[in-house]
Amino acid sequence: MPTEPLIADVVVVGAGAIGSSSAFHLARAGLRVIMVEAFGGPAEGSTGRSFASIRGQWADPLNIELSWRSIQRYRDFAQDHGIDVGYRPSGYLLLVPEEAWADQLAAVTLQHAHGVPVELLDLATANRITPFAEAGLGGATWGPADGVVDPHLTASAFIRMARDRGATTLYRHRVTAIEGEADGSWTVTAGTRTLRGQYLVNAAGGWSGELAALAGLAVPVVHSRRNVYATAAGALPAPVPMTIDVGSGVFVRSEGSRLLFGRARPDQADGYDTSVDWPWMETVLELGVARFPWLADLPLDRGGCWAGTYEITPDHHGIVGADPAAPSWVNACGFSGHGLMQAPEVGRLVAEQIVEGEITSVDATALRLDRFATADASRHVGLVF
Ligand SMILES: Cc1cc2nc3c(=O)[nH]c(=O)nc-3n(C[C@H](O)[C@H](O)[C@H](O)COP(=O)(O)OP(=O)(O)OC[C@H]3O[C@@H](n4cnc5c(N)ncnc54)[C@H](O)[C@@H]3O)c2cc1C
Repeated sequence: MPTEPLIADVVVVGAGAIGSSSAFHLARAGLRVIMVEAFGGPAEGSTGRSFASIRGQWADPLNIELSWRSIQRYRDFAQDHGIDVGYRPSGYLLLVPEEAWADQLAAVTLQHAHGVPVELLDLATANRITPFAEAGLGGATWGPADGVVDPHLTASAFIRMARDRGATTLYRHRVTAIEGEADGSWTVTAGTRTLRGQYLVNAAGGWSGELAALAGLAVPVVHSRRNVYATAAGALPAPVPMTIDVGSGVFVRSEGSRLLFGRARPDQADGYDTSVDWPWMETVLELGVARFPWLADLPLDRGGCWAGTYEITPDHHGIVGADPAAPSWVNACGFSGHGLMQAPEVGRLVAEQIVEGEITSVDATALRLDRFATADASRHVGLVF
């Protein structure tokens, strides 16, 4: 027997970090929200497979603002909402090659102008935080408020707070059809249910392009696999904060008494694939040992390794705001490896877009979908973490 349609002001598709934060901010603004998710619970997409690291150390004003405001939300989460989302200011150390040092100094000046705590370190001081071989480095920077947050606790907390404000959650319901109505509203088929919303928020992560296509819209987001490798527990003599060798792109940090490490594979094929890339681990180890020679002595634990997918756009920046082709369709997707660290602020921007009709609290022009219509929106070819 057919069930009655579920009616809402906003249908949010996706229960990852971005969808859950959006659902909370929309429900807090007094809107009726339905969040629909294909998996059986929150954070089962990219969010739950992330490296969980957050940093205010960016080189452009918008990313600095989105990350730094979000870090402050994470820092104050327990105080503001009474829920611990696992924020640990374990720090972020960037080891910067000589040829990139001048640019890094300019980035730090910008970060300071936005209030981000970042310190310039000489190599001897940095070496006492994480030991490394110094060849070719110009200096290091340290973000003491950067660190980690728990992705599962974060998504669950936002959803709990959204539900406390009347939001409905629908798990194990994959959206398979979307109809745009003449009045701008959306009729959404998800499993056995029909949902109706005046607005739809596309927070479908790496599936955002496919979701948009159901409504005849074009959103350039695809999956791209990323691997996290792990040493055995117990072998690490001391904790290692998130440390990135900027030149090689290798990153390491400890989780408990394991070391986790990785590096993006430049020739990674697009597509949803969460199997671990074992041959690539050999390359990452080789690059990693060149900078962190002690890594060679740590026994690996294949059972502790995992892979997930980044939700990437052609320029590796997110897409936030109303779709120019359908103003009641709001994209919040494509964060290309930094969605967790910006989720608190992105959810707020989504609510701003829907409640006020535009994003005014920050200049989000660089996140508009229509930037890809211009000539310089070619695929990003630089190093990505
Ligand atoms: C290995 C790895 C390391 C990372 N490290 C970091 C890091 O250190 N810091 C950081 O900030 N970010 C990191 N990221 C990226 C981060 O995980 C993502 O940017 C972020 O989780 C994106 O959140 P999201 O909510 O947009 O997507 P997701 O978490 O993927 O959520 C999207 C949800 O939409 C649902 N969905 C999709 N299509 C449909 C449909 N048709 N119907 C219903 N539901 C649907 C999916 O099931 C999914 O649950 C990492 C990612 C990986 C894989």
